Amino acid sequence: LTRLYSPLTSLASARVDVMSAMVSFERVFEILDLKPLIAEKPDAVEVPAGPVAVEFRDVSFAYPAADKVSLASLEEVATLDSRGGSTVLHDISFRIEPGQMVALVGSSGAGKSTVASLLPRLYDADSGAIELAGTDVRDLTSDSIRRTVGMVTQDGHLFHESVRSNLLLARPGATEDELWDVLRRARLTQLIESLPDGLDTVVGERGYRLSGGERQRLTIARLLLAQQRVVILDEATAHLDSTSEAAVQEALGEALEGRTAVVIAHRLSTIRAADLILVIEDGRIVERGNHTELLGHGGRYAQLYRTQFDTGTPVLTEVLN
Ligand code: ADP
Ligand code: MG
Repeated sequence: LTRLYSPLTSLASARVDVMSAMVSFERVFEILDLKPLIAEKPDAVEVPAGPVAVEFRDVSFAYPAADKVSLASLEEVATLDSRGGSTVLHDISFRIEPGQMVALVGSSGAGKSTVASLLPRLYDADSGAIELAGTDVRDLTSDSIRRTVGMVTQDGHLFHESVRSNLLLARPGATEDELWDVLRRARLTQLIESLPDGLDTVVGERGYRLSGGERQRLTIARLLLAQQRVVILDEATAHLDSTSEAAVQEALGEALEGRTAVVIAHRLSTIRAADLILVIEDGRIVERGNHTELLGHGGRYAQLYRTQFDTGTPVLTEVLN
């Protein structure tokens, strides 16, 4: 009888091992915030010190087919051909000088977020090159990219950790005062004080449920704390209500000062102030210039701007997006 049962028992314990392996596997993905696996080169270097210019040179890109496949096995994902999907970006070229701001405008699905996601190397371009501070992003360590490029997106991604840990990831040595200062600037003081464990409340996918706007403000607080040299704001205030929007916009404005920035679907005042506006349609840059130049040109941007003006919509982004 024992002999009969023992295989079952070992099977059961093997199952436990598989389960715990799956949990940690999932956690690794969560911690790394990875979609596909982008491998770091063994001889990868740090982003050079000093001001950071951003350059895209003839970048084309299709989303890897892996995104549509469940993560059955790591090897399988790693070997999937990235040219499986249809091309989303075609020959994207532009340069942002250190401290300058580029605004990406264009209708939904045009490819704006995709352009932004290639910069911190969430994906690799299929052809062309992307440089940070004169170095190809494929030659940089993931860690130094993360320390250089800050990103606030519509989703407001948080790690399944405490509020404190989520903030400290941005600047490990931050003091309690510094944490509360960025929380105040992101209009989060009241919320955090009302949480069951305050700063130590676990948030994120399986933690305390924050609203979309609260998540977004927390990722903004993280950005304020991190002081990365490059900032990407991709619909960074999409979920904010009108009472917190103005205050958070002000904080974001401060966060942009002196940094190299990419802004998507932001306020008209921001787009107007951009050093370079790229109008993107179907994955191609169809117009480029500053606000005055593009209005004078009388093309797609002028058309979008006029539509905005005629309807009296307060922000261009509502039309452009
Ligand atoms: P925008 O930000 O301008 O609205 P996106 O860059 O999000 O546009 O999307 C550009 C195109 O890429 C769209 O056709 C969209 O459906 C597709 N796309 C976006 N994200 C993914 C993804 N993770 N996997 C596959 N296709 C995607
Ligand atoms: Mg987008």
